[in-house]
Amino acid sequence: MRPKSSVIWTFFDEVTVDSAKCKQYSKSFSRKGGGTTSLKLHLKSQHSDKYDELLLLEKGNQKKKKTKKTQIPKQLTPLQECKKQLTLIDSLKNKRVWDDSDTKQKEIDKLVAEMIALQNLPFYFVEGVGFQR
Ligand SMILES: [Zn+2]
Repeated sequence: MRPKSSVIWTFFDEVTVDSAKCKQYSKSFSRKGGGTTSLKLHLKSQHSDKYDELLLLEKGNQKKKKTKKTQIPKQLTPLQECKKQLTLIDSLKNKRVWDDSDTKQKEIDKLVAEMIALQNLPFYFVEGVGFQR
């Protein structure tokens, strides 16, 4: 069993183990040995804009630690850090009151939590004005 975790599946549908369908043209074609290399090559030659997206996605999956780190205020004391995290938890709780039935919101919460973990972001990142918007 091959894990279907590759970001290549953003652009293709799996038809069988040996064939995939390009989402751009809804065109199926076979791929040798079930690998994703031929799919990548197809994107590269046929849909270069999608290929760029793919590269960005792949890059993002590997490491995205640098980008936001410079924004962390360095003079923050542990107490302040603690307070900020509590504020976040409170704001999440408040959100739940009116959002709990909304599965999309749950999905977003999950993705945000994932993003924080993956990017090694400070929890108060989600309190930023830019993010809130
Ligand atoms: Zn195509």
